[in-house]
Amino acid sequence: MSDLKEFIREIPDFPKKGINFKDITPLLANPKAFAFAVDGLVNGYICENINYVVCIEARGFVIGTALAYRLGAGVIMVRKPGKLPYECSSSSYDLEYGSATLEIHKDALKKGDRVIIADDVLATGGTALATINLITEFGAEVVDTVFLAELSFLKGREKLKPYGINSLLKFDY
Ligand code: AMP
Repeated sequence: MSDLKEFIREIPDFPKKGINFKDITPLLANPKAFAFAVDGLVNGYICENINYVVCIEARGFVIGTALAYRLGAGVIMVRKPGKLPYECSSSSYDLEYGSATLEIHKDALKKGDRVIIADDVLATGGTALATINLITEFGAEVVDTVFLAELSFLKGREKLKPYGINSLLKFDY
């Protein structure tokens, strides 16, 4: 497979002026690129006894469910407010553009569960950190955070310390 970055489309000034949006839809639409990406991310966890992949709405669902299927793990959804039907815990955070809240079902995890978190892009790290906070409240263990792409210049990696970060593609622009 040639450079996977060729399947990430740059959309300048989306959704706001000054944001260079990394559009992963061409990668998802290409069967070989998608399989190559999932294989590249999943390998480190085959022998890690992962119980759940916690998937962040919405593009994280696509990556995370593919990883969970390959790992024989369950899928837990972290969603925007008002989307999950049962009682929820919530966590608020700052974004590269604006602020937001995420929710998880109150009975989603238990102490000692081993999880990885999946999303498409690591930008400032606020979304992933809010998700880590939701997970650790249960006493569950965050084995790693997993992303298709990392925007290194936004320094999300520093925000997530000491948690592990596995990103397939790194962008410094
Ligand atoms: P952050 O909390 O800043 O790490 O933002 C991560 C979330 O926002 C991810 O779910 C991404 O899908 C999305 N996101 C933020 N910035 C970008 C960007 N420049 N390109 C694509 N997605 C982005």
